Formats: sequence, C-alpha cells, structure tokens
Amino acid sequence: MKLYPTIGLEIHAELLTQSKVFCTCSAQFGGEPNSRCCPVCSGLPGTLPVLNAKAVEYIIKAGYIMNCDISRFTKWDRKNYFYPDLPKAYQISQMPRPVCLGGYVDIESEGETKRMRINRIHLEEDAGKLVHQNRVSLADYNRCGIPLIEIVTEPDFHSAQDVTAFFEKIRLMLQYAGVCDGRLEQGSMRCDVNISLAEKGSDTLGTRTEVKNLNSLKAIQRAVEYEIYRQTELIENGERVIQETLHFNDATGETSSLRSKEDAHDYRYFPDPDIPPIIFTEEELEQIRADIPEMPQQRYDRYVGEYGISPTDASVIINNKAISDLFDNAVKAYNAPKPTASFITVELMRRINLGEANAEELPFAAKELARLIELAETGKISKDNRKVILREMLSSGKAPDDVAEELQLWIKEDNALIEKTVDEILAANPTPVEQYRSGQTKVFGFLMGQCNKALKGSASPAAIKQMLEKKLNS
Ligand SMILES: [Zn+2]
Repeated sequence: MKLYPTIGLEIHAELLTQSKVFCTCSAQFGGEPNSRCCPVCSGLPGTLPVLNAKAVEYIIKAGYIMNCDISRFTKWDRKNYFYPDLPKAYQISQMPRPVCLGGYVDIESEGETKRMRINRIHLEEDAGKLVHQNRVSLADYNRCGIPLIEIVTEPDFHSAQDVTAFFEKIRLMLQYAGVCDGRLEQGSMRCDVNISLAEKGSDTLGTRTEVKNLNSLKAIQRAVEYEIYRQTELIENGERVIQETLHFNDATGETSSLRSKEDAHDYRYFPDPDIPPIIFTEEELEQIRADIPEMPQQRYDRYVGEYGISPTDASVIINNKAISDLFDNAVKAYNAPKPTASFITVELMRRINLGEANAEELPFAAKELARLIELAETGKISKDNRKVILREMLSSGKAPDDVAEELQLWIKEDNALIEKTVDEILAANPTPVEQYRSGQTKVFGFLMGQCNKALKGSASPAAIKQMLEKKLNS
C-alpha cells in the first residue's frame, strides 16, 4: 500500500497598515504590553469599530497578485469564541462573502511547475498574545485588532517541499506588493497545515489533522514531514488517525494534541451589525490594481531581459526584496547592471551569509554601493580593493571615497613606483625570468601576479602589464 499525502494550508499574514483595522491604535510590532490599545480594540461595551480603508486596499492587492476574483460586494461577520486573548469574545472576520475568491499561484517544486489553487482570502482582526510565566498567564492586547488576511488554499499540496515553496513565494509577493513585511520572527506570517494520507489513486481522502501556528519555514517543513511519518506509522500498524488539532513542538520536532474534533468550536457566525458591507466600483478596483508595484517575476524578467544578467544572479537578487531594491537603486545611481549584480551576488551576499551584515539594515545607501562600483569600473581602484572597501563600509558605514583615501587604495599610476617594483620582482625571480626569455611565456601570469601583489592595487593591471612586458623583452 502506497500512502499519498494531501495537504491544504491556511496562511495568516499581518497587513502593513500604520493603524489597526477598526481603530486608530498603532499596528507596529512590539511596544510595552497593553500600551497600544484603546476602548475599541480592548472590546469595551458601547464602542464602535471603523474599518481601515488601507487594510481593504491591501487585501485587494493581495487578491490580485494571487489571481483571485475580487468580490464586488463584501461584508463582515462575528466569529464568537471565548478565550482570554480576545477581549470582545468575538473576532470580526468574513464568512460567506470574503473580499477574494478563487485564484492560484504557480510554484517551482520538486523540479516542476505546479499550480496551487486558492479557495479564498478574507480580512479579519488579530487576537492578543498570552504570555505564560511560571504559574500565571499574562495578556498583552497590543496585537488585538491588527489587520490580518487569511489565505485558504485548496488541498493541492503533496509534500513538505510543495508547502515551503508556496509559503516562500507568497511571502515574497506580499513583501513586494508592500502588503505584509513577511517578518516571520515577529509573527507577521503564520501557517496552519491540514494533512491527511490516503492510498495513491483513492477517491476518498483520509482523516485529516491540523497543525496550528507554524511560524518559520523550518517549522513548517519539519511539522509536515513529521505528521506524514506519524500518520503513515499509524495506518501501517492498523491504527486509526484521529481528527484533531495539533501543536508542533520546535524542541522535540514532534506534534501533540491541542484538541480533538469532539471539542471543535461552534463559532455561531452572524453578520456584524456595526460594519456596513462594501460595494466596490470597477474604477476603485482598477485604481488599486494599477497601484500594485513590480512583482518578483517581473523584476526577474527585467534583470535577465533588459540588463542581460544571468538567471542565477537574477534569482539570488529577487529572492530578497531588500537586496533587489538595493540593486535597482544602485543601478539608478550608476548605470552598470552587470558588474553591480555580480558584486552583490558574490561579495555582498558572502558577507551577509557570513552574518557580517543584514540585508534589511545595511549601514550604507544604494548610491554608496553604486559609487564603489563606479570607482572600480573607471579604474580608480582595483577590483580586489573593492572587496576591502566593502568590508570597511559594512563595519564603519564610511563612504567608499573616504575609505579609499584612508587606506591609500587609489590607483596612482606612479610609473617610477611601478618600474621599481617590477625591477625588484624580476631580480627576486631569476628562474621564471630565464624561462620566459627562453620562450616559456606562460610564466608571465606568475610574474604579473607577484607585481600585482607587491603594488597592492595602487597600479592598474594594464600599466603593470605594459611595464613588465617592456622589462622582460628588453
Ligand atoms: Zn485600539
């Protein structure tokens, strides 16, 4: 019996609005506990919510980039449940008439392009956060009322790789659209995964479990793999998979039961009487659609098509929005896309991967990077010294010209110095010189390297080559 996993996702993404979805409190991450609350988001009786227009604009953008149909009529519902993180005892959400319906996103997974269908995307408010300390639990309501979109997919996923590839792609697209910052470490995106196993080719799906609140790619991958393994073991041992909600434990890599189907909630949804439904006009929707910035795929096409950058470099750049923005702005300041792209993907990414820098918080602006590229391209510094200057820019935030000046890295074209250095190198290497003069010209590279090293980038390769040839042939 070959068991085949079927997986569906519910992804929550916090929207990048300044204020919360139904009040004017700040929607920024963090803050002293309960410092970003008001009577509306802390659910005091008699208060009235006012819908944040920006949140509606953002969910429409999210819908468009995921190829959804945008409902011309949408409305809000109350989802009732009692839990200490929800002071109103109901969450304002959308049940029958969400903003976005249908849709799809194409992903690359397991060597092929797969189309993952989206069932719906709706707008709702986030709940607060409970902090458990020793034997007490504390409630922080700063997160209450932060606008969330919930992206519900069809069960089109069949492996952990399908799931992580989709999650990564959605995250990147939402970041590019300016809709969500995608900061997983701050809980900006969370993923619930529904998994069931059935015999391959079977018409009926197996009993499914749901793993809640996965908030990193690693956790998503491990939870899916573990759950497939656990259910396979159960079925192969003749046991039954129980329909339940699970929690994934990062430390053990295992899932454990949160609640079974028997305690499933009845949320008693009903229309929220305080928030009027919205009817969108075609003009309004068209305006929002026209305002969507360039998506990762479009940037990729531009980099490869217009700039002639290699597909590998273009992928590395677009896969990080901060890096892609840096590249675009640097090319605007100094128009040399190819050297800029290769310097970023090789040298800058190396420093970032070594943990010496953070792509989101670089200590220099794009125009300074552009200036560094320009100095090397115009022969004012050597290409090797570009790396030295970059490291200094990363550690001190100094401008490239200042670093070159301080460390004396300018190419001086001082002919007397070049001549003196070449003479010294030739005197110190009689054997290669003899070999060259007897026709073994490939030792030229070695001698050239020695001169280069001795001159520490203060002369251009062309000037050194000229002098070296002159001396060797004289
Ligand atoms: Zn508030």
